Amino acid sequence: MQEAFLRTSYRTDCYHCRVVADQVITAVPFQAGVVCANCGATRVFIPKIEDVTAKGSYQKPECYPVWHLTPEGSCRHCGVTGMHEVVIGCRNFTVRCENCGFTHFYRFDLEYMDTPPGEGGAGKKEV
Ligand SMILES: [Zn+2]
Ligand SMILES: [Zn+2]
Repeated sequence: MQEAFLRTSYRTDCYHCRVVADQVITAVPFQAGVVCANCGATRVFIPKIEDVTAKGSYQKPECYPVWHLTPEGSCRHCGVTGMHEVVIGCRNFTVRCENCGFTHFYRFDLEYMDTPPGEGGAGKKEV
């Protein structure tokens, strides 16, 4: 697993278990993901476009709620560690470096349950 250039979390009610829990967000060049810290519901996004773009590119309105976060990340393009703009909707995952405008645009690929250890549940399904 490559080192994530961006790692953060967002506390909200999970679409799956409906519990307010940290949704752990990570991005590596070939994949971005959101995992519920409570139930293990995992959403995986795969890269579509990498480019230097103007603010707001690829952020067309889509289904709601859309998460809008500004965590710190390390840009692979300009090398600066600083604020990144992260926009996550149900179909798209966008990360944009505030310093140089380098944007990763990911598209929703799949979701699965990564059952936390020690819980019965449905078990881990194959991806
Ligand atoms: Zn959950
Ligand atoms: Zn940058």
